[in-house]
Amino acid sequence: MDTIDLRSDTVTRPTPAMRAAMLEAEVGDDVYGEDPTVNALQRRIAADLGKPAALFVPSGTQSNLLALLAHCERGDEYLVGAEAHTYKFEGGGAAVLGSIQPQPIPHEPDGSLSIERLAAAVKPVDPHFARTRLLALENTWHGRTLPLAYLREAHDFARSRGLGLHLDGARLYNAAIADGVPAREIAQHFDSVSVCLSKGLGAPVGSLLVGSAELIDKARRWRKVAGGGWRQAGLLAAAGQYALDHHVARLADDHRRAAYLAGRLREIAGIKLLGQYTNMVFIDVPAERLRELDAHLREAGVRISIGYLPTLRLVTHLDIDDEGIERTVAAFRGFFTKSE
Ligand SMILES: *Cc1c(COP(=O)(O)O)cnc(C)c1O
Repeated sequence: MDTIDLRSDTVTRPTPAMRAAMLEAEVGDDVYGEDPTVNALQRRIAADLGKPAALFVPSGTQSNLLALLAHCERGDEYLVGAEAHTYKFEGGGAAVLGSIQPQPIPHEPDGSLSIERLAAAVKPVDPHFARTRLLALENTWHGRTLPLAYLREAHDFARSRGLGLHLDGARLYNAAIADGVPAREIAQHFDSVSVCLSKGLGAPVGSLLVGSAELIDKARRWRKVAGGGWRQAGLLAAAGQYALDHHVARLADDHRRAAYLAGRLREIAGIKLLGQYTNMVFIDVPAERLRELDAHLREAGVRISIGYLPTLRLVTHLDIDDEGIERTVAAFRGFFTKSE
C-alpha cells in the first residue's frame, strides 16, 4: 500500500520521466559557468519571470539568504512578516551569517503586511538605527495568495522609501495558477524572487533566484562563500527544466484536490476546518487526541505532521491522486466515528 504523505509538498519523488531527463542531461562545471543545462535553466526562469538574470541554488533557504546578502550589508535591516519563512524558519541566517537585522511585522489575516505598519517601521537615517534597506514578502504565505493589488501597493511603497523588494516565492507558481495569471505578473513588482523547484513542482532538489545582473552577480559570489558552488549540477537542473515543462499547469489539480479534501473533512464531526488555500488544508482536532489520530492514520497509510498545536496542515502534491484523497477521508472518518 502506498503511503499518502500529506506532511508537505517537499516529499514528492522524481517521476520516471523526470529521472530519464536527468540521466540524459549534458553537464559541465557550474562554478566555471560551464554547465549547459544549468545555464539553460537559469536563462529560462529569468525569461519566464521577466528578469535579466537567474541563479540555480541548492535550496530555498539558501536562495533567500543570498538575496538578503545581495540586497543588504552588515548593519542593515529588512522588514519581514513575523510568520514569514525568511524570518522564522531559516535559522536566523540573515542575522547569523550576514549581520542583517530582521524587523518582523505582524501579518494581516490575508498574509499581507499593512503598508501603514511598514511605513511606521522604516527607521530614520540616524546613527542610532540600523539602516532599513529591504522589504521581504512571501507568496503564497501558508497557502494564501497575496492580492495582486496589494503587490502593486507594496511596490509603490518600497520605491517611495528607497527600499529593495524581495519575494520569497517558494510556491510562486501555486500563486500564479490560483490567481490565473502568468508568474511574471507577480514577479514584476519585485527586485528579486526566489522560487523552489522542490515543492509542488516535484524536482528532487533546487531553487532559483532571479533579479538584475548586478544582484545575481553578488548572489553568485555569496553562493560560493556559503558553500553552494556546485559542479555538474546539470543533472538537477534537468529535473528543474522537466518540472517547469510538465508540472506547472497541474498544480491546479493539487488545488482542486485540497478544496475537495477540505469539503469532505468539514463533514466529519470532531474536525474543525480552519481554511483551505491553494494546496493546503488547515484543520483543528482535539489536542488530546492528536497522537492517537496520528497512530490511526499511519496504520491506514496516511502521514501527517503533528506538532504540539491542534492545528494540522495537510498538503496536496504530485504524489497524491484522487484515490489518495478518498483514502485520506476514509482514514479520518474511521478515526472520528469509531471513537464517538
Ligand atoms: C520551503 C520554503 C522555503 C525554503 O526552502 P528549502 O528548500 O526547504 O530551504 C522558503 N520559503 C518558503 C515559504 C518555503 O515554504
